[in-house]
Amino acid sequence: MAADRAGVLAWIRRSAEAIHEQREILTELDREIGDGDHGTNMDRGFAAVMTKLPDVADADIGTILKTVGMTLVSTVGGASGPLYGTAFLRAGTALAGKQELTLADALAGLQAALDGVVARGHAERGEKTMVDAIAPAVDALKASVEHDDALRQALETAATAAEDGAKATIPMLAKKGRASYLGERSINHQDPGATSAALFFRAMVTGE
Ligand code: ADP
Ligand code: MG
Repeated sequence: MAADRAGVLAWIRRSAEAIHEQREILTELDREIGDGDHGTNMDRGFAAVMTKLPDVADADIGTILKTVGMTLVSTVGGASGPLYGTAFLRAGTALAGKQELTLADALAGLQAALDGVVARGHAERGEKTMVDAIAPAVDALKASVEHDDALRQALETAATAAEDGAKATIPMLAKKGRASYLGERSINHQDPGATSAALFFRAMVTGE
């Protein structure tokens, strides 16, 4: 993605498309270890986000992200609505007033998003949640900042880290959220929230 406002808006649009395309897979994953609503919840939220984007067409990146967060909080519901809502709100606060983003800014925004999810959901790594996709992606970005990598390359590496993180939830025992009620039976299923989180990272580097 180009690191300007238009790039951020395009990323949000591609995220909405990816969620829409993958909604049945996300719901199926949630049917296995939850209540079968994750794809529907997220698709409803991002459909609402799409209706709000024209209002923020001229806004700074922080305002755009905060608007996404507020919309998700009010439309997604379940565990993931407040968690993703908080993630976008915190990223928006970290990037208030920005018209474009350096790699260090992207890291600051995503670190704030991760911190928000952890503050709200209290999940640690390895507990089979979206944290298991987001945290490795943030780690990858941190390493890229240290190596002074190009933004595009850094986001590509982060997207792969998020996808690997989502896959790594398969053998995990769920310790948070609905899936934790299943105990041992949560093992051998990929976490739906980690799967949707990986879609957001992949959407940063697709479709251009
Ligand atoms: P619900 O579980 O309320 O039906 P969703 O199905 O939309 O909500 O979202 C489920 C996802 O939310 C899980 O797959 C998991 O990734 C994430 N999740 C649940 N609880 C937590 C938590 N405490 N911290 C982080 N992520 C969580
Ligand atoms: Mg659910």
